[in-house]
Amino acid sequence: MNLLSPLSRLIRQLMSAAALALAVLAPPAAAQTPYAGPLFDAHLHYNDEASARYPVADVLGRMQRSGVRAIVANSRPNDGTKALAAAREATRRAGVTVVPFVRLYRNRADYSGWHADPSIVEMVQRELAAGTEAGPYRGLGEFHLYDSANADGPTAKRLMQLAEERGLAVLAHVDDVAITKLFAHAPTARLIWAHSGIGDVPIERVRALLQRHPTLMGELSYRPGLTVADDRLSPAWRSLLTEMPERFLVGSDTWVNGRWDDYEALMQQTRRWLGDLPPAVARRVGWENGAALFGLAAP
Ligand SMILES: [Zn+2]
Repeated sequence: MNLLSPLSRLIRQLMSAAALALAVLAPPAAAQTPYAGPLFDAHLHYNDEASARYPVADVLGRMQRSGVRAIVANSRPNDGTKALAAAREATRRAGVTVVPFVRLYRNRADYSGWHADPSIVEMVQRELAAGTEAGPYRGLGEFHLYDSANADGPTAKRLMQLAEERGLAVLAHVDDVAITKLFAHAPTARLIWAHSGIGDVPIERVRALLQRHPTLMGELSYRPGLTVADDRLSPAWRSLLTEMPERFLVGSDTWVNGRWDDYEALMQQTRRWLGDLPPAVARRVGWENGAALFGLAAP
């Protein structure tokens, strides 16, 4: 039974075609709602200059107000991480799970020489044996390789193998050449690529490396080209994140105190560009991938 006249049916069809055309033509920018779910901050430092200025209660407050429910904690030296891990009651109250990583740096001099320094391997092994009050260390890093050739340094190689043997994640600030070299030492290591190619690595190269190495994940702080004006996700990155939703993580990278001052604003920015993704993808990148990597329950 059809109660519509041919004319009104035609008008209806035209209207729905127009609505469809509008929906297709409208930029995805039109209706951005910031991601409102839990965040996993997969790149956080609590270095000695930060712990001197922002006590544990202060940084936990920043995380809590930002909806950050878990963090990869690492620090130079490792004392800051241990302080966060030891604050069991305060982290529980703030609803923040601490996932501790061993930092390879005792001081600033270690940034450039660690890859060939056998005393770093000893330090890492001591830390792993001792663990933290929040449980065993779950990863190594962040480390930097300013020259990708140093990915073949004896300590770099040994630590990649150690991570692979023990199921530890590795947070590495390196270029695409070093990613390939690090995987040559430990092909099944769980490698988190800090900044996903900060030094102008083309997005196509990032995609190719993720395709080649199934245990590689990309952390997105400071990634050039990720966003365009007003914290909107760029079309190219929207495509890649939607294509590989299980391979990316977000992070604050509190490498200097200014990043702690800005912590809540940084997390708001993250929520804005996550809001340009389909909701299920935003939740994966914002929370679920980190939670899955370390076996955390939903908050
Ligand atoms: Zn960092």
